[in-house]
Amino acid sequence: MEEEKKKKVKLSNVFYYLKKTYQYAKQDKKYLFFFLIGSILLSVINVVAPLLSARQIFYLTNEFWTQLFAVTLLIFGTEVCRNVCIHINNYFINKYFYSVKKNIQLDVSSKILQIQTGVLQANSSGTFIERAGNDTDTLSDIFIQGIDYLTYLISVIGVLFSILFLNTAIFFLYLLFVVLLFFAQKFAAKKIQEKNKIRKKKRDIASGFISELVRGAKDIKLLNAEKSFLNKTDQVIQELGEANYSWARTRSWFRFLNGDLRDLLDLGILLLGIYFITHKELEVATMLIILSYRGHIISISSNLEHFYDIIKQFELAAERIFEILEGEKYPKEFFGDKQISKIEGNIAFKNVFFGYEEDDMVLKNISFQIHPNETVSFVGKSGSGKSTIFNLISALYKPNAGEITFDGIPLNQLDKASIRKNMSVISQNPYIFNMSIRENLTIIKEDLTEEEMIDACKMACLHDFIMTLKDGYDTIVGEGGVTLSGGQRQRLAIARALILKTEIILFDEATSALDNETQYEIQKSIQNMQGEYTILIIAHRLSTVINSDRLILIDNGSVAGEGTHQELLKNNPIYQKLYELELKDDEKK
Ligand code: ADP
Repeated sequence: MEEEKKKKVKLSNVFYYLKKTYQYAKQDKKYLFFFLIGSILLSVINVVAPLLSARQIFYLTNEFWTQLFAVTLLIFGTEVCRNVCIHINNYFINKYFYSVKKNIQLDVSSKILQIQTGVLQANSSGTFIERAGNDTDTLSDIFIQGIDYLTYLISVIGVLFSILFLNTAIFFLYLLFVVLLFFAQKFAAKKIQEKNKIRKKKRDIASGFISELVRGAKDIKLLNAEKSFLNKTDQVIQELGEANYSWARTRSWFRFLNGDLRDLLDLGILLLGIYFITHKELEVATMLIILSYRGHIISISSNLEHFYDIIKQFELAAERIFEILEGEKYPKEFFGDKQISKIEGNIAFKNVFFGYEEDDMVLKNISFQIHPNETVSFVGKSGSGKSTIFNLISALYKPNAGEITFDGIPLNQLDKASIRKNMSVISQNPYIFNMSIRENLTIIKEDLTEEEMIDACKMACLHDFIMTLKDGYDTIVGEGGVTLSGGQRQRLAIARALILKTEIILFDEATSALDNETQYEIQKSIQNMQGEYTILIIAHRLSTVINSDRLILIDNGSVAGEGTHQELLKNNPIYQKLYELELKDDEKK
C-alpha cells in the first residue's frame, strides 16, 4: 500500500516535470509540429498501408505467386517510405532537442549564479557541473524521446487492432506478449532504477573529486600529496566502476529475459500460422502481413525495456535539475526591489550579528559608520572577521541579526543592481580571464575607449608595466591570469574598478608578502583613487594603513577601536600589541 502510494506520487512528479520541461520547449513548437505530422504519417504507413493494399491485392487476383510477389513488393515499399519518414522526423526532433537543451542549460546556469555563496561553497562544484551538463542532456533527451514514444504507442495500438481484424488467435498471442512484457518491465525498471541512483551518486562524487584534483593540482604538488590524492582517485573511480557494473549487469539480465520472451512469441506465431494455413483459415498473404507487423510488436520489447528506465532517468535528472531551478535545497540570493542609481557611499552596520553556522557567531554586535569618499582600513588578527564584513557588505551573505544600510536604506531592501553595480571588490587573488589585457577590460565595458583604458591603467600603476610587454595591451594573460604576478593581477582588478567607476571599492590586501616595489605601486594606485571613492581596505599589514583616513580595529568579531593609526597606537592596547607583533615579525624577516 505504502509502495503504491509512493509510486502514484512519483508519476505525478513525472507529469509535473514534463509540464515544466515543456515550458522550455514552447519556443520552437514549429519543429514539434513538423515532427508530429511526420509521426502521424509514419503511423499511417505502419498500420493502414499494408492492410489496405493487401485487400486490394486479394481483390485483384487469386493467383498465389502474384499475391506473394505483390505482398513482398508492398512490404519493401512500406519499409522505404517508413525510413524516409523516420529520417525527416529525426531531423526535426534533433532541431527541437538542441533548442530545448539550450534553453534548460541557460536557465540552470543562470540559476546557479543566483545560488547563495555559502550554499555554493558547501557543495562540490562537480555537483553543479554535472547538473548543468549531463543532467540537462538527459532531461531534454528523454523529454524528446517521450514524445517519440507517444507516437510510437499510437501506431502499436493501431497495429494490434489490425491484427485483431486479421486473426483473433494471433492477436491474443501478441496481446499476451505485450502484457507479460509490461509486467516484466515494471519489475525490471524498479531494480534498474535503484542501481542507477547509486551509479549517479557515485558519478557525482567522482566528478567532484576529479575537478578538485584539477583545480588544486598546483597545491597538491607543493604539498607532495600526489600519492594520497591518486589513492583516493583510485578509490572513487573503483566505486563508480562497481556501481556502473552492477547497473549494467542488472540491465543485461532483463535484456536476456526479454530475448527469451521474444523467442517464445516467434515460436507461437509460427505454430499458429502453420495451423491456420493448413486448415485453410488463413491466407499465406495475410500471414505475411501479420509477419510484417511482427517487427512493430517485437520492438515493444526493446522500447518498453527502455520506457521505464527512461521515465525513471527522466525523473531523476528532472529532480536534480529542478532542485536548482526551483527547490529550496539550493536557496537563491534574495534581493529587495528598491533602487538607487548612484550610491553616495554611506555604509552603516547597526548591531550586526553573523555566523556561517547558526550556532557559531563570527561577528558579534558590530556597529560602525563609513562616510562617502572616506578611505577606511579594517585591521585585526587573522580570523577576527574582516573578510566576513566584506562578504556582508557585498551581500554574498545576510546578517543573522542587526541591519546594514547603504545611504540609509537597509541592504535587504535594495535590488541586486543597486548593490553590485555600485561596488567593486578587489580580492586577494582576483580572477583574470584568459584573454588579452585589453579584452579583460573591454569585457566589463564594451564601449571602452583607448583613452579611458590607458587612463585607468595609469591610475592603477599598471600602464608602464604593460608597455614593457611585447604585445602591450594585446598580451594574453593565460588561464586565471597566471602570467601576471599577484600584485599585477590586483592592479588589473583596480583598473577594472576604475573603469566601472563604482562608488564603493572593497579592497582585500594580499596576505602574501609582496615585494616592496609592488606594494608601493599598489599603495600608489589606491592613493590615486582616494577622496573620489569610498574605499574599504582589509589591511593584513599595518605598514600599509598609514594613509587611510580611519582604521576600524576588529577583535574576535567585535569592533575594538576606531581612529587613525597614530590615535590607536597611542590609546588602544589591542592595536599596540598588534603593531608590536608585526614589528617583531618584520625583524625576523
Ligand atoms: P579575517 O578576514 O579577519 O582573517 P574571516 O572573516 O575570514 O577573518 O574569518 C572569520 C571567521 O569565520 C574565522 O573563524 C573563519 O574560520 C570563519 N570563516 C570564514 N569564512 C568562512 C566560511 N565560508 N564558512 C565557515 N566559516 C568561515
